[in-house]
Amino acid sequence: MSQVYNFSAGPAMLPAEVLKQAQEELLSWQGLGTSVMEISHRSPEFLAVAQESERDLRDLMAIPDNYTVLFMHGGGRGQFAAVPLNLAAKGQRAMHLVSGSWSKASVVEASKYIQADSADIRFERDGTIGASLDMMPELSTDTAFVHYCPNETVDGIELFGVPQTDKTIVADMSSNILSRPVNVADYGVIWAGAQKNIGPSGLSVVIVRSDLLGSPQADTPVILDYTAAANNESMFNTPPTYSWYLSGLVFKWLKQQGGVAAVEAINRQKAELLYECIDASALYNNRIAAENRSRMNVVFQLADESLNAEFLAQAKDNGLHALKGHRSVGGMRASIYNAMPLIGVQTLVEFMREFERTKG
Ligand code: PMP
Repeated sequence: MSQVYNFSAGPAMLPAEVLKQAQEELLSWQGLGTSVMEISHRSPEFLAVAQESERDLRDLMAIPDNYTVLFMHGGGRGQFAAVPLNLAAKGQRAMHLVSGSWSKASVVEASKYIQADSADIRFERDGTIGASLDMMPELSTDTAFVHYCPNETVDGIELFGVPQTDKTIVADMSSNILSRPVNVADYGVIWAGAQKNIGPSGLSVVIVRSDLLGSPQADTPVILDYTAAANNESMFNTPPTYSWYLSGLVFKWLKQQGGVAAVEAINRQKAELLYECIDASALYNNRIAAENRSRMNVVFQLADESLNAEFLAQAKDNGLHALKGHRSVGGMRASIYNAMPLIGVQTLVEFMREFERTKG
């Protein structure tokens, strides 16, 4: 089979080395004669996976000791509910900064449990669109937390700063966790659905400052309860063990790449290459303000939209898969998470130039 580069936004490609290792270990893991997904989560062998993956994530993100790491169920939307249920009392306020589709969706879910205030922090300027954390409104004193999404997967908008507030900051890092260093101590909670930069879907990783534990709302479903998860090493109920194991392999792979700062350098290179190609072209267009251009999800439109289907079909014939933009925004989107090698983006850029040449 010829080489395929998969630009899916999520579930997204995993490092080939990780998949090969998983394949080799599938039928008999660690010489047990059984696969890792068939053993008890409480077996010493799986507990070692759990502990090692947490240690590796702590190393990769330099997570301080006063933070608890949780491996939970329910992906991103599970956390849209878990955050208000764990961090605010019923009816208490929290501020949601809206920079695109996912932060907008977080407000809808949070509204079921708390007074979910929201502020639109998007702007339009000189034909570009973006979002600015400086547009955060005054916060009332009873605001439990400020929730924002530093990388809007659908819109291709990334926020590189941190909201300036003394309130607890919660970040949905589903689509940019581990793509660049962050200072964990700036946040009360960092959470991420796994299926972009961590591992397979189903799992979510939550990094919570430990003093925020201990006061979930009384009717919090136990699988969303940070305190129950923390008190039971993320094993109050059966965790998604295979996703957890694979995520652990991805953490090891990241360490082998030199860690988060090293992959950030490659991520910058990949994104620059693609944005340069788009900016130099008369056919492709990206409207995101320079300071908000996502390094993970590069969205672009074709000046002649009637060419969309042909672009996607030819891309696919060239092994370049899943470039179709999200149905809510149309156009194209190239998701270039950590696992996408530089050569994948170079191949895409060559294809885009060639496509434009034949259509020009
Ligand atoms: N937040 C962000 C930034 C996302 O990209 C996604 C999924 N694409 C979600 C939340 C929702 O995640 P899930 O589909 O796992 O519920």
